[in-house]
Amino acid sequence: MNRRAFLQATAQLAALAAVGHLGACTQSKPFKFDKDPFTLGVASGDPLADGVVLWTRLAPDPLSGGGMGGAPVDVDWLVARDDGMRDVVRSGTSSALPDLAHSIHVEVGGLDPDRVYWYRFRAGGAESPVGRTRTAPAGEATPQRLQFAFASCQNYTQGYYTAHANLAREDLHAVLFLGDYIYEGTARGDIVRDYAKRGWSYTLADYRDRYAQYKTDRDLQAAHAAFAWIVTWDDHEVENNYAGGIDRDDPHNKAALAERAAGYQAFYEHMPVRAPRPQGPALKLYRSFSYGGLATFFVLDTRQYRSPEVALCRELDQTPSGYCPASIDPTRTMLGADQRGWLLKSLSASASSWNFVAQSVRFAQQDSNPEPAKHTFDGVDNWMGYVADRQAILEQFASSNNPVVLSGDSHVNFVYDLKRDFGDPTSPTVGTELLATSISSEGDPFIEQTLFTPPAKNPQLRFFDNHRGYVRCSLEPARLTADFRAVSTVRKPAATVSTTATFVVDDGKPGARRA
Ligand code: FE
Ligand code: CA
Repeated sequence: MNRRAFLQATAQLAALAAVGHLGACTQSKPFKFDKDPFTLGVASGDPLADGVVLWTRLAPDPLSGGGMGGAPVDVDWLVARDDGMRDVVRSGTSSALPDLAHSIHVEVGGLDPDRVYWYRFRAGGAESPVGRTRTAPAGEATPQRLQFAFASCQNYTQGYYTAHANLAREDLHAVLFLGDYIYEGTARGDIVRDYAKRGWSYTLADYRDRYAQYKTDRDLQAAHAAFAWIVTWDDHEVENNYAGGIDRDDPHNKAALAERAAGYQAFYEHMPVRAPRPQGPALKLYRSFSYGGLATFFVLDTRQYRSPEVALCRELDQTPSGYCPASIDPTRTMLGADQRGWLLKSLSASASSWNFVAQSVRFAQQDSNPEPAKHTFDGVDNWMGYVADRQAILEQFASSNNPVVLSGDSHVNFVYDLKRDFGDPTSPTVGTELLATSISSEGDPFIEQTLFTPPAKNPQLRFFDNHRGYVRCSLEPARLTADFRAVSTVRKPAATVSTTATFVVDDGKPGARRA
């Protein structure tokens, strides 16, 4: 029995067991919703040349468990070549199951490459909004342009999603979201709106309600409905700064693993991902997407397999190297052996003109010690706490076509030259890092800052800016152009967007220059 047949059989059994559970659900009379079940919008993602994943979740009572009861519900879906949904090319029915919070993930196939499609769902007499999506170009194609944006960190309580409202109006093939889609904690800092349920998220029910709170936002829904998204996660989808690579047999880790299983399950239920559903605290999220021969995106998971965070680093940070000894321990890993092997092998085999490593946390080295003769590399939650894996990737970058790391997490924009040896200023630049600021996390900048001149201690740093927004990229075979888009405010529901800076990476010349 394959997975689909199994799900159908399970759904039928559950439906038989639950007849009558949802008032109007009888065999003679079709089930009708008396409230809109499409309160969380629609989404598409994980684009291939012949298909995409379509997502929605039925939730007539979104902030209190969804309001769906215990029976599966059939959801009809349509894919059309026009936004009026007349020229339908694919359609079907999926069962929204209670053990997946009545979410559905439709893996549509048989579509044409590099083409815009529209999609819509129907269930119980209700109709969803129409979403737009786009397939990737065929493998043998040589696209002359690819337009995408990337973003991260959308703390709901710290700002309105004015960045998403503006992102939805861009002209893009796809959006990459690099983590902190939700924040699991209580509202803190300068709050512009609060959660309906204010507590911390620990259980599956908590995480589901937290995702639902985020996804009721109309601007976030608009950004999902406008483009196919490619997502990965960071820490706050489970818990601040967690490291997943822990001993699963150690009974001390039982609570952390249960929380992680709940967080992973809710993530899967709310994201348009093709990945198989999680098995307890395990979900394989790292994967790649290609746009013909022009670009490949290697999407990493920097949380699930990483060694525990370096402890007591601040007390130890006056070591001669400036690193905590544990940060440079070659046995520690950010990616885990399987993912690291996959990434290095895939990068080495890639024939793409441009190779993007899309991942959550800052990759480049940064020295935060103000004294010229002393060094402090204290990014224990980012790649500076995992030097061996970073160095292996930098070595591979030296022989890869146009490697560019796309990152999030820092809540500010950075552009870095990636040096083969960060300890040697004369070392060649082997790649570029573009780091996207937050959508809303930390709110409007207290003091606006923009920096273009590389500081003496960190000549690899080309740009810093602390506005809220996202990065819009236009890729051609000979050039990557990145526009750092900043919104005027997140303290009000509407805002304008402008470009703070534009950086360009030329084919064959790693490192970004200001346009
Ligand atoms: Fe964040
Ligand atoms: Ca983070």
